[in-house]
Amino acid sequence: MTLSQISTFTLLGLEGLPIEIEVDIADGLPGYTLLGLPDAALGESKERVRSAIINSGGSWPNRKVTVSLSPAWVPKSGSAFDAPIAVALMVAQGLVSAEATVGSVVLGELGLNGDVRSVPGILPLVLSAKKSGFTVAIVPIANIWEAKRVKEILVIGVQSLSEILEFYRSGVLPSVHEAEADQLSPSFIDYSDVAGQRDAKLALEIAAIGGHHVLMVGPPGTGKSMMAERIPTIMPPLSDGDVLDVLSVHSIAGYYNSEKFHRNEPPFLAPHHSATAVSMIGGGNKHIRPGACSLAHLGVLFIDEAPECNRVVLESLRQPLESGSITISRAVGSVTYPAQFMLVLAANPCPCGKFFGRGRACTCSAVARARYFQRLSGPLLDRIDIRIPVPPPSRLDLVDETPRESSAAMRHRVIAASERARARFSDEKWSRNAQIPSSALHRGYAAEKSAMRMLHGEIETERLNARGFHRVLRVAWSIADREGHEIPTLDDVTAAYAFRTGLENYL
Ligand SMILES: [Zn+2]
Repeated sequence: MTLSQISTFTLLGLEGLPIEIEVDIADGLPGYTLLGLPDAALGESKERVRSAIINSGGSWPNRKVTVSLSPAWVPKSGSAFDAPIAVALMVAQGLVSAEATVGSVVLGELGLNGDVRSVPGILPLVLSAKKSGFTVAIVPIANIWEAKRVKEILVIGVQSLSEILEFYRSGVLPSVHEAEADQLSPSFIDYSDVAGQRDAKLALEIAAIGGHHVLMVGPPGTGKSMMAERIPTIMPPLSDGDVLDVLSVHSIAGYYNSEKFHRNEPPFLAPHHSATAVSMIGGGNKHIRPGACSLAHLGVLFIDEAPECNRVVLESLRQPLESGSITISRAVGSVTYPAQFMLVLAANPCPCGKFFGRGRACTCSAVARARYFQRLSGPLLDRIDIRIPVPPPSRLDLVDETPRESSAAMRHRVIAASERARARFSDEKWSRNAQIPSSALHRGYAAEKSAMRMLHGEIETERLNARGFHRVLRVAWSIADREGHEIPTLDDVTAAYAFRTGLENYL
């Protein structure tokens, strides 16, 4: 046999596309030709494949070898084709029977010594293989955890090319490294770690209920980051389908963390304020990688010291905030990644950080203070429903010995309230309070009459504009859901209004 065909997959965004690898070994001058839009990394595969085959006890055909990847129009990149090309070569030489490979896909980069190395994007690749009807996926052992998230396909983790060949020849599974059973490790962080800050914790609970974006302003060391980091511990757990979506993005970025998602906890991403636009929203030249905003999909994107952020980087968040996804266009094609996250910004009250309370120790000029917050652009701030001051904890907070509320207790309320909202919106196109369209707030989702009168009064006196009006109402719904109210009461709306005006001294 001199012709063989092996299946594998390549990624276009989050979507895995089937690729057929055909190997033809013909008489003629010894040579190696690779057809079908290969990029540079793929072009280098020849040396890796050849050494790996020889070091795994195979032989390299001293004839004319043609490897073709089809369909040709699909852009292919990376090194995940090494292992399937090697298998196709072995089949073409009659070292492995073609029948044995039917129904299976092979993914992985080869080391010169025959090691099978990890590649990014294994999870979405295996998911696509399953959807296309494949029953066996052979993956690098380093990627076994993520691959195993896909059910109804036999996932085999291998360390070397010889293990792949052994499996195809004898049907024997590599014995060593069957992954351990999923373990549920308890969350290591909890809101009970945070001293004081009752108001801020309440605000974050309300934010988690409705999916509202948050801005926290306070001096350094008041626990802003600590509280932000704990938001996922009170959010409703992700469904298994959602986890696959989230993990697929992480898998492509090469950030798969097996521990983290066992509890189906939403992701938490905290890019540094010096982050570039590419690391924030994704990009890159050859391989388009998802950025922090996609890694935070269905979770929390936290930016500490947000005013220090490059303005262009902050502005780049507008597309994902608007559409819940991000499209990146490059010469090699354009890809769309999901990016539906809860944005949490933290800021110091001024450049020196001490303008708080009576602000006596602050050394900043009024101009410097104003300029500091101007860096958070209006359009971005417009999307932030909840704005809260985070003062230093009082001495009373610090000596208070009464048990602090746990994340579990808070999450219990968040889940109950979110369910209420979900049921209310069952006939709508949205499911969370932060997503209620402005028009609907006038139509079917107004608050109690007295509350509406209060808000209209604020508009007439120009203390509130139309956007603020909508923002207050959305938050009021989340407060009402937490309190178990049918529709927002005057109290609920008043409390929501306070979240809007809470930072008037700064913004
Ligand atoms: Zn200052």
